Amino acid sequence: MRTKHPLIKKNDKVTVLTGKEKGKIGNVLKVDAEKGRAIVEKVNMVKRHTRPGGKTAQGGIVEKEAPIHLSNLMLVCNKCAEPSRIGKRTLEDKSKVRYCKKCGQLLDA
Ligand SMILES: [Zn+2]
Repeated sequence: MRTKHPLIKKNDKVTVLTGKEKGKIGNVLKVDAEKGRAIVEKVNMVKRHTRPGGKTAQGGIVEKEAPIHLSNLMLVCNKCAEPSRIGKRTLEDKSKVRYCKKCGQLLDA
């Protein structure tokens, strides 16, 4: 099955469109294309309780990024520094690149 939002990739800069994290910008740490979700650095943090023992000697609360649905994310163009509509273009060597529809900046260069 093809994902509806294949344009967001690891290491992209994205902004959140909806929810309590709206407007936050972060780098994509991981994309789960199958579930259509991504982990964005320092965005959508959730507190998790850990039990004493194991790797951490003390139990406590750790903060961790929770996945965000890709439809709630939008790529931020490095040139305009704003959320932009992204297009796809095929280069002469047949490689596909993403570009900003606003300023034309190639995002995979
Ligand atoms: Zn742009």
